[in-house]
Amino acid sequence: MGALMEGNAFDAIVVGAGPSGSTCACLLAERGLRILLLDKESFPRDKPCGDAIGGKALNVIERLGLMQELSEKGFPRNSGIIFSSPSGNEVEIPLLENGKKVSGGFVCKREDFDAILFQHAEKKCKAMEKTEVVDVLSEEGKVVGVKARHDGKEENYYCNVVIGADGVNSIVARKAGCLAADSRHYAAAVRAYYSGVGGLRGNIEVHFVPESMPGYFWIFPLSKNEANVGVGMLLSEAKKRKVNLEQVLLQCISSKKFAQRFASAKLQGRMRGWSLPLASARRKCSGDGFILLGDAASLVDPFSGEGIGNGMKSAAIADEVIGTALAKGQVTIQDCLRYEGRLWEEIGPDVGYSHAMQKVLSNGWVLELAISKAKRSEWLREELAGMIASREAKKKARDPFFYLRMLLA
Ligand SMILES: Cc1cc2nc3c(=O)[nH]c(=O)nc-3n(C[C@H](O)[C@H](O)[C@H](O)COP(=O)(O)OP(=O)(O)OC[C@H]3O[C@@H](n4cnc5c(N)ncnc54)[C@H](O)[C@@H]3O)c2cc1C
Repeated sequence: MGALMEGNAFDAIVVGAGPSGSTCACLLAERGLRILLLDKESFPRDKPCGDAIGGKALNVIERLGLMQELSEKGFPRNSGIIFSSPSGNEVEIPLLENGKKVSGGFVCKREDFDAILFQHAEKKCKAMEKTEVVDVLSEEGKVVGVKARHDGKEENYYCNVVIGADGVNSIVARKAGCLAADSRHYAAAVRAYYSGVGGLRGNIEVHFVPESMPGYFWIFPLSKNEANVGVGMLLSEAKKRKVNLEQVLLQCISSKKFAQRFASAKLQGRMRGWSLPLASARRKCSGDGFILLGDAASLVDPFSGEGIGNGMKSAAIADEVIGTALAKGQVTIQDCLRYEGRLWEEIGPDVGYSHAMQKVLSNGWVLELAISKAKRSEWLREELAGMIASREAKKKARDPFFYLRMLLA
């Protein structure tokens, strides 16, 4: 079908060129399909994020052939996570694979990471920047294309399937009736870049300081003295407490535990807030003529706040299901629904354990106990390292005996 299509007709239109959209466009285009990738911004562009490209994304980055480029650019890799509890106990959990220390993901400004992905996609498909999708076109209940605005002019583009990868406020999700507004399944976060931060040890840091509770304060090192710094909290909690997260971030930075490390630090640019659609409530993400990826499908891990990994994974699953259908000539509603089924088969178990961990650790007492015990107990540090790395070990988040053993550790 691809070879027969001309002008404004494509096999698939991908709306949004963040990590989910650019990845999907690349993978589908590699099959020889005609793909149109649209983004309202132009690259490089910033996206408020912690910039931690976690282990989940690495397989897909490898498949795209971009590991070497990321390594050569020298973006720092971490090999562990530093946690601290509200009372100030601190523990460093190494990243382990089969009991051995390994390098985890990268910390890489989204301005750089997304531009690398977009430039890669540009080589493989028709990619248009500064092109905003303003409507989704339907015929007899089936999505058949999009209306997009570029240079003040509106144009219709048609396709077999529209792939909505346009982030948390996705127009594709909204037009298809898939957006939900339940604040228990969204997080709110603000991010800032600081230079001159003291005491950076290479690993990412997650601190449950009293000022940030019931959320957390993060410090993700970008170089020896520059860091991505932010706070995040469940939106329902932020609303209940009427907190201003920018103020919370400033309070964390000037708190007793951190004031020294930030004494010479300088804010670069401005703080930016954004919301994270969590996967703790499963949302409809497919229908006749369309599927949704990444934040548009609400796939952010409810414990860690990571959304890039699941977003890129959803792109790979879309390639597997929708790419195979397109290669045969057409995408049916069953193919779109099959994508949604495969997606949840793949990420559902992890999301369930993460949601359980989010609930358990929102209890300050359990958090305090876990971190203070882990500081002293090698057994618990290894257990927690396993829970970060493997799905099998994460199951313990739902096992009461695990907490009993933790008490005795
Ligand atoms: C403060 C904060 C910290 C975070 N920290 C991390 C972290 O450290 N690690 C992690 O893995 N995740 C983190 N996340 C989550 C992560 O940022 C998202 O999950 C991720 O960006 C999702 O990627 P995406 O490609 O699905 O969507 P996005 O990255 O949001 O990309 C969507 C794209 O669609 C485009 N677009 C939107 N509307 C239209 C339209 N109408 N027409 C055309 N284009 C459109 C946008 O311009 C954008 O380029 C964080 C989020 C926040 C807010």
